[in-house]
Amino acid sequence: MFGLIGHSTSFEAARRKANELGFDHIADGDLDVWCSAPPQLVEHVEVTSPAGVTIQGAYIDSCFVPEMLSRFKTARRKVLNAMELAQKKGINITALGGFTSIIFENFNLLQHRTVRSTTLDWQRFTTGNTHTAWVIARQVENNAPLVGIDLAKAKVAVVGATGDIGSAVCRWLSARTGVGELLLVARQQQPLVDLQQELGGGRIMTLEDALPEADVVVWVASMPKTLEIDQASLRQPCLMIDGGYPKNLDSKVSGGGTYVLKGGIVEFFQDIGWSMMELAEMDKPQRQMFACFAEAMLLEFEQCHTNFSWGRNNISLEKMDFIGAASVRHGFSTLNLQSQVQHAAA
Ligand code: NDP
Repeated sequence: MFGLIGHSTSFEAARRKANELGFDHIADGDLDVWCSAPPQLVEHVEVTSPAGVTIQGAYIDSCFVPEMLSRFKTARRKVLNAMELAQKKGINITALGGFTSIIFENFNLLQHRTVRSTTLDWQRFTTGNTHTAWVIARQVENNAPLVGIDLAKAKVAVVGATGDIGSAVCRWLSARTGVGELLLVARQQQPLVDLQQELGGGRIMTLEDALPEADVVVWVASMPKTLEIDQASLRQPCLMIDGGYPKNLDSKVSGGGTYVLKGGIVEFFQDIGWSMMELAEMDKPQRQMFACFAEAMLLEFEQCHTNFSWGRNNISLEKMDFIGAASVRHGFSTLNLQSQVQHAAA
């Protein structure tokens, strides 16, 4: 059985959903009530891949909402409680979605293995970052040619290059795709220098200097809401892959020769018959999902019950090959500009 741990995109959305599901006692509660609400297993689902493999899964709502991010202890408790519930339900492999994986890493939850009487078994959880990185790299490869960018000559900026996802994307673009030049963007210098050495190339740049030079920009950093982009200074065409969470880049730049694609999103080959992705505001919630969620499904399809993506900067090209091949075999495709445009026009 696979599991997905997620959350609503806002407190208001969470209350609406709780109302729909009949959880009246918390639907009407204020943020303090929600802070103490336990996680809920809200949905079971059965999924069959084109390879003929059928798996069972469950969606656990952590009852976390982004408005709780500043409440450090609450956020930590929400994620740990949801993980405890997944383990108690006997779920083999569970993906940490949305802010839950960010909280896990940034608040160093590895130190908090014991939740009440449960010792969390890390083998049962995955961040899903390997699949996310593979999907983003493939989105670059698939979509740059669609807007007239020749990747062999292109400058590709990776904002968040030294992160778990960003470094894997850099490895792939450098070794597999063969882009013209990689522009490596992050704030701390030493990890950038280490990455540059590992890759045997790439130019370390500030965001301000990289943006006007880049044909493609991969955003895999949580950027401040106040970030402003001077669209007039961007190259045309410019492909931007919005791999951050939440995905709000199209509110800052769009139109003209700038193409913004939601990064790290995959589409299943048929409707799944679940309601869980409505919470994540997908364009096609019956088929589309975060690649990190799909990683748990893929590991279950493959009966690979291990914490496939775990820790920082452990994503190898071999692991990306494995999860990428499984993704294709089991009926997932990456979100592309065409499907995004078709949906907007419909
Ligand atoms: P990490 O914490 O491992 O890496 C973050 C990277 O961003 C680091 O290189 C960091 O370097 C850099 N960074 C942070 N702030 C800035 C800044 N202001 N300017 C430039 N660089 C910055 O994160 P992950 O790789 O795990 O995740 C990256 C992003 O991907 C997150 O936003 C996450 O929400 C999103 N994500 C999306 C998923 C999906 O859509 N399917 C799934 C999982 C994650 P430094 O600190 O040196 O600046």
